[in-house]
Amino acid sequence: MPFSEVIAQDRATGALRAALRRGRLHHAYLFGGPAGTGKGRAARLLAQAANCQGGTAGPGGYREEPCGSCLPCRKIDRDVHPDVIRLAEERVMVKAGSWEPKGGRSASKDIVVDQVRDVVDHRLALARSEGRRRFVIIDPADAMNPQAQNALLKTLEEPPPETTLVLVAGSPDALLPTIRSRCLRISFSPAPDELLVARLEAAGRTPEEAHLATALAGGSLGRALALDPEELDALRDAVRAALALRADDALAWMAFARQYGEDRAQAGELCGLLAVWLRDVLAAQAGGGRPALLDLAEETRRAAEELSPAEVVRRQGEVGFTAQALLQNASPVLALERLVIAWFTPSAPRRSAGELRGRA
Ligand SMILES: [Zn+2]
Repeated sequence: MPFSEVIAQDRATGALRAALRRGRLHHAYLFGGPAGTGKGRAARLLAQAANCQGGTAGPGGYREEPCGSCLPCRKIDRDVHPDVIRLAEERVMVKAGSWEPKGGRSASKDIVVDQVRDVVDHRLALARSEGRRRFVIIDPADAMNPQAQNALLKTLEEPPPETTLVLVAGSPDALLPTIRSRCLRISFSPAPDELLVARLEAAGRTPEEAHLATALAGGSLGRALALDPEELDALRDAVRAALALRADDALAWMAFARQYGEDRAQAGELCGLLAVWLRDVLAAQAGGGRPALLDLAEETRRAAEELSPAEVVRRQGEVGFTAQALLQNASPVLALERLVIAWFTPSAPRRSAGELRGRA
């Protein structure tokens, strides 16, 4: 896969390709920008291009684009190249079977100092094995706790020859200034909506599906493409069912919560789509904009007339709160029950994710 597949990031990928062409890679990069903008993919492409054996090499020995099919390219793609070291949250690496916390500790959601010492320092102390250039890809780098970041400083200051560290971060400014100042920053920004819509239509989505997936994807083509049209249909039906609920029918509220709270991911996506719909309502009240949910236009128009903008914003807050509680492991049924109650009852109290964890 070429760098052009990392869409709408021409400045970022252009800088990387120029460095590859000249054969002069920096020893440490910080790829910063929102989720889904291709930072992780670009890090992998960089490691592939520097180690690729297909096509013609530039003056510095690197390819400007990886071929994607030679042995090093394939090994890097499958995360089995010995010269491409990857570091992720302890919990994620434990799950993948590539790390075990020391001293019987339970795995943390951070990248911890032991990982920096045992994975990065230890492996970099060994000789390069088969590649042209060694890479350490830390993704997400902003998961490193301060001790881990301090442990990495020495390597950032004096990396071994022919080695590049790539720190991938959604919140690059959360890293210590001493880390940031030692890295060359490459910024990734969300793709404009029109571009995503065009790419989705080119991939065979209808204009309705393309607009809806774009509204849900927050600038990420990867996420937009992963949204299956059938799932989108089911979600739209769920939103329609939510909008058909009446303020005086609490039994129907509970049935709704039971039906759509069966599955955590589905409940989360329902919240995402409700947020998109509420945005459509606000846009209609402001008198403009193309709605994302075209086939709910009638419901949108009615809500725009009946609700005050302040009430729409309040409901947006409740939906956001519910989405957050679901991420923190609240019971989907309880979280949706609370959402419906709050939807119709402005004074309903918010409950913590812990309080919403009551039953399965
Ligand atoms: Zn290759």
